[in-house]
Amino acid sequence: MDKLAQAEQIDSYFSRIQNDPVNRRAHQTLSYTPMNNEVKRWILDTEILTMHPTAEAGLPHTRPPNLICIPAYYPEQRLPETLAHELIHVDQRRRRIKWNRFFERQGWTPLPESEVPLRWLQRCRMNPDTIDERFWAWKGRHVPLPLFEREDNPDLRQVVIHWWDRETGIKQAQAPRSFQERFGSFPSQPEHPRELAAVELSKIFQTPSDIDSYLQLE
Ligand SMILES: [Zn+2]
Repeated sequence: MDKLAQAEQIDSYFSRIQNDPVNRRAHQTLSYTPMNNEVKRWILDTEILTMHPTAEAGLPHTRPPNLICIPAYYPEQRLPETLAHELIHVDQRRRRIKWNRFFERQGWTPLPESEVPLRWLQRCRMNPDTIDERFWAWKGRHVPLPLFEREDNPDLRQVVIHWWDRETGIKQAQAPRSFQERFGSFPSQPEHPRELAAVELSKIFQTPSDIDSYLQLE
């Protein structure tokens, strides 16, 4: 079985996309195929696959158990930090419990999808790196939602993060103050604790042991 078919058996990512009208529409003109059948072996027993430039709208991502998917013609100068970011996602999947404890120490709690109001849930972009645990609440209360800007014409690259307050029921663009105190006013990819950690750690990443040091920080 090819690598992507094997990944699909584990995460059901595309079957979930197919069952979600807005995400399905966002993918319908994109071609999710590898450029060739060659995988490049990399550190921590990962494999790098070069994808068609439109796969996931050209966004690098990972698939289980160990695949790093990079679009063809990705800018060379951005590759080192991007590969580190994706390597961290592979590690988050492999050591999910350890990472989840880290996120919980930071102040996050996982939230079942069924708790998110349907009118917003159906506008949320699915992300292969977070598909198994899509939603987390900051301080038990503030849930970042990655919303397609246009529900009628969704684009994987046109997504805004809004914060749904579970206590008041209000959804707003501004992150809560306590979140800004920890992550800054405008952190990149505030949609999910896995993304925040991958962004933060990939900036300083040099060797795999940096991941363990980072996990001990909080
Ligand atoms: Zn990511």
